[in-house]
Amino acid sequence: MNILRVVDLIVKKKNGLRLTKEELHFIIDGYVKGTIPDYQISALLMAICFNGLDKEEQVNLTTEMLESGEQIDLSSIDGICVDKHSTGGVGDKTTLVVAPIVASCDLKIAKMSGRGLGHTGGTLDKLESIPGFKINVSSEDFFKQVREISIAVIGQTANITPADKKLYALRDVTGTVESVGLIAGSIMSKKLASGAHSILLDVKVGDGAFMKTLDDARVLARAMVDIGNSFGRKTVAVLTNMDEPLGEMVGNSLEVIEAIDTLKGKGPETFTNLCYELSCELLMMTGSVNSKEEGFQLIKEKIENGEALDKLRQMIKYQGGDVNVLEDYSLFPQAKTKLEVKSNVSGYVEKLEALEIGLAAMVLGAGRENKDDIIDLGVGIQVLKKVGDKVNAGDVLAIIYSNGKNEEESKNLILNSYKFTNEKVSSNKIILDLIR
Ligand code: URA
Repeated sequence: MNILRVVDLIVKKKNGLRLTKEELHFIIDGYVKGTIPDYQISALLMAICFNGLDKEEQVNLTTEMLESGEQIDLSSIDGICVDKHSTGGVGDKTTLVVAPIVASCDLKIAKMSGRGLGHTGGTLDKLESIPGFKINVSSEDFFKQVREISIAVIGQTANITPADKKLYALRDVTGTVESVGLIAGSIMSKKLASGAHSILLDVKVGDGAFMKTLDDARVLARAMVDIGNSFGRKTVAVLTNMDEPLGEMVGNSLEVIEAIDTLKGKGPETFTNLCYELSCELLMMTGSVNSKEEGFQLIKEKIENGEALDKLRQMIKYQGGDVNVLEDYSLFPQAKTKLEVKSNVSGYVEKLEALEIGLAAMVLGAGRENKDDIIDLGVGIQVLKKVGDKVNAGDVLAIIYSNGKNEEESKNLILNSYKFTNEKVSSNKIILDLIR
């Protein structure tokens, strides 16, 4: 048997060679056990960033991370269990709409979500703006809930992918996050460990996302779909626009309210469209419907007859939340003041940088700069003018919902995020590509 030495493997990757399954096992296992130090893994990660991982290495790395922790077994739940994952964006509350829709269409959605960091929000923080809502649920109760009402969105219960946790924290501080193989392995190991049979990936593209260009996003999406399929899970990726915030609302309570409005059939058009497209893709990939037309028809029926909203109601009730929020939005944590941000110029909105709007909400307290920051669930931004809209000087571009923190900074970030032109501009297309 070969004696493996970490330094040789670093040099091997530095020279652009492939790491074998045995070598990747040695590295991940040693790192989780603490026998390989951060500095050696940092050097290896940097070599991977420069020289990449091929398909086989990506699958082997994913396997090692997946097997480093517990894996959820959903086989005791009858029916098709699906999961959806977004690579993260600004104003992205699609899970809160898509999960109830597909649950009302007889799919099971057993979802473990995360918290937000930086300019992107997390589903768990949003859900916690519902008074009483519990995200810490035991595995037993989680399964029971999915069996009984087909839907649960909770925080992570099991010790899933500890290798990824440790590696991600190191990547975050060594400038090694942005590598397709590492991102794909990180995301897919968590998705595979969560146990769903079918996985829908919403890969965000644009200034507010990890992947700034469509070509880069396609490469990441292809890598994740191939990994998912090689583990026997049906995996599809939808590439969606994140050049501007999604919908109108950015901020925790505000986004939940917008999601509820969407389930009532009163959401903003582009956001509604995205939620229907993603839900329809889940219905098609699981064979629940045979065509897009059939899927859209079913979804519209579930919205109109209130069954989709009722799924959210059932989930809130099951997880201890106050279901009255669905009718009375004043029960959500509130901001004390609303400030209008007015345009100084006239023209058509050419750009509305999602990243800046995300930061404008974060400085108000809606997001975390550091992992342990406490967030203010009531604050945020309502974006009234989007790409393609005509604006006259003095028109309100956005409304700041504030509790008095950093209002001026937030206002400046919002004003900076807008770029105007005198030429007519068409609105952004939301679905950019689909990778099956
Ligand atoms: N999200 C993840 O979970 N992992 C990455 O590497 C990047 C984004």
